Amino acid sequence: MGPLYAEVAVDIVHRQLDQLFDYEVPAGLDVKVGSKVSVPFRNRTVGGYVFGLSGKTSMGKVKKIIVPKAGLLSAPAELMDLASWMASRYLCLRIEAVKLLFPPGNVPLAPGLIPSKELLEDPESFRVMLKRSPVRLRLLDQILSDFEGRGTVPLKEALGKSGASASAAQSLVKEGMLERSYVTRKPAVERSTSAVKDVILSEHQENALNAIGQAMARGGTVLLNGVTGSGKTEVYIRALKKAMAEGKQGILLVPDIALTPQMSDIVRAHFGSRVAVLHSGLSDSERAYHWYMAMKGDVDVVVGARSAVFAPLARLGIIIMDEEHDSSYKQEESPRYHAREVAAKRAELSGAALVLGSATPSLESYSRAKAGEMVLCELPERVDGRGLPKMVVVDRRDEIKAGNYSFLSRRLKAEMDAALMKGGRVMLFLNRRGYSPLVLCRDCGYTMKCPDCDVSLVYHSDTKTARCHYCYHEEAVPALCPSCKSKRLKMYGVGTQRMEEELSKMFPGHGVARMDVDSTRARGSHRRILDDFKSGRAPILVGTQMIAKGLDIPEVTLVGIIAADMSLKFPDFRAAERTYQLVTQVSGRAGRGTEPGLVIVQTYNPDHYSLKSAVEGDFKSFYETEAKSRKALGYPPFAEMARILVVSASPSLAESAASSIARGIRKDAQGIRVLGPSPAPLSRVEGKSRWHILLLCENRETLAGKLEGLARGGEEHEGCSIRIDFDPQSTL
Ligand code: ADP
Ligand code: ZN
Ligand code: ZN
Repeated sequence: MGPLYAEVAVDIVHRQLDQLFDYEVPAGLDVKVGSKVSVPFRNRTVGGYVFGLSGKTSMGKVKKIIVPKAGLLSAPAELMDLASWMASRYLCLRIEAVKLLFPPGNVPLAPGLIPSKELLEDPESFRVMLKRSPVRLRLLDQILSDFEGRGTVPLKEALGKSGASASAAQSLVKEGMLERSYVTRKPAVERSTSAVKDVILSEHQENALNAIGQAMARGGTVLLNGVTGSGKTEVYIRALKKAMAEGKQGILLVPDIALTPQMSDIVRAHFGSRVAVLHSGLSDSERAYHWYMAMKGDVDVVVGARSAVFAPLARLGIIIMDEEHDSSYKQEESPRYHAREVAAKRAELSGAALVLGSATPSLESYSRAKAGEMVLCELPERVDGRGLPKMVVVDRRDEIKAGNYSFLSRRLKAEMDAALMKGGRVMLFLNRRGYSPLVLCRDCGYTMKCPDCDVSLVYHSDTKTARCHYCYHEEAVPALCPSCKSKRLKMYGVGTQRMEEELSKMFPGHGVARMDVDSTRARGSHRRILDDFKSGRAPILVGTQMIAKGLDIPEVTLVGIIAADMSLKFPDFRAAERTYQLVTQVSGRAGRGTEPGLVIVQTYNPDHYSLKSAVEGDFKSFYETEAKSRKALGYPPFAEMARILVVSASPSLAESAASSIARGIRKDAQGIRVLGPSPAPLSRVEGKSRWHILLLCENRETLAGKLEGLARGGEEHEGCSIRIDFDPQSTL
């Protein structure tokens, strides 16, 4: 047999190197499509990823692959197709896409040994062969007996126990009795605190499970639209068990790192140690460990955030995406992929089923289900006959008229008193962290702004500084107004820190917990805050987005949404959709136990259709209204959108580059609608000007074709960096 050649993408992020290079595979090295290797490249050694194998090469002189020091890692071959697909779909470099498939950093592997297949089949005849080499025989027996109990035996340990030398081990490998392998150091795994509840599925749940079973057999997507608390998670678990019973594996995606502990607890309660967890909140070595377990096939389920869609499972039978509407599934840095799209492609490549679950499906998914492109399953009721919480709208204008300027309406305050009296838990949602969003002079109207960004500074009481939420700028609040020297520089508006402080005064004797980015920086703080809340040490929980989703705490009887209009005012075409989702999701935290739940929604816009239908729990009416307006505007999901963002230190260069790009597209529009250029809503961040152009088109390929040249650096725009984002989830 002649030499084998590998087509390798080298790990150098550079447009000119976005191609495959041929390398010779050294004899005996088990390189596969999907392997991560090392290769010599221009006088240095770099990482490489094998996209293809072939018996011939068209290149004259071919260098050899180097055996990576840490051992050979391989992703399933179809993931390489997925990476190539991503490169063309998101116009990124192939190397950027393929790097998502592997854990960052090195897998902390130590060399180990396993018996070869031949040895396992017929150990006796091999033992006879070694009759005259007692040391090597001892080593062989050591490996055989240890392997049975726990798999790969660390080399050091095997040599120590048997008294054999490294060269003895090597000769057994050469003779095909042993094989090299690797062991990982196991990080401390948090134990599951959930107990398995044996429940009988409702009819709706049964129907959903059947539909998922069919999708697993034939491929395809199921949209599971179930109200909050309708038992979607239970359906996920059963579906995963079904996959397992067929010898398949599953991926369960959650939108937020914050939700992984709760979900992995539940999954571990069912699947024990055959669960891996993958998300960016883990340390590199923890991630590497979980990744490696998945690669070896030692797990049945991978739970994780966005990036877990790339988990190296070779027998994938199902991908489940919980809260599929959530914008965290979109990666905001290059490659700007949407995990929902990637999951669909991966399911197609692996012949797996895709399940999209949500109480508030995205317009994208729901319209595709209506068009028959996926199966729609509904769970219209909460389990156990529990009702959805009662929703009450409070018009904040009435509060102002009555002279109440507090962030708590009279009704909410009264309901809190009642709930706390009965020993319930209260969740208050406000999507604004910090103490006050505005530091303003009462005499001249001066406000503190970030010198580098086009935003006001937010006052934080823990550091007693005004901080920018878009860069690291932070400064003390001056004693006198810098503009008029008045002493009346005051904090305006309420953030979560101020709520925490004022609530402690308003409800003495009741602890107040706060959950936001600032209070959860420390490792483990997340769990601690929730424990305080659950146990009743702090029966009031104030929080941002972080408390909006997924939390299943039966003691919560009252939920207050402090400012439901905040998300409505967002300069983005999805503002109404996000508001509907947020209000529904936050409300869903109430009444998950035996006590019925109550939700108070405070707003200045009680008549807005997104709030009205959220309060009525009427997804279909929201969908109809929103879909009509999107259709009329020619916006997603009824068109494909791309955003071009031009960023430059020079405002005039940003503007002229944006203008010239827009002009170029308009010249030969091919049915593409061009909006702009205009300054982005966040017109300056970190001292750089931002201009953007929005493109709309029926056809994604037309859009991608149009932008390919720009993405590949085919145009010169001096001093500007250009970002292309398909299906942008934020247009700020
Ligand atoms: P969702 O994910 O739709 O919000 P969950 O799956 O978290 O809902 O279910 C809410 C609660 O109801 C959980 O505590 C779960 O164990 C329980 N549950 C789920 N299905 C059933 C069922 N068929 N019968 C009784 N309890 C159930
Ligand atoms: Zn002033
Ligand atoms: Zn700033």
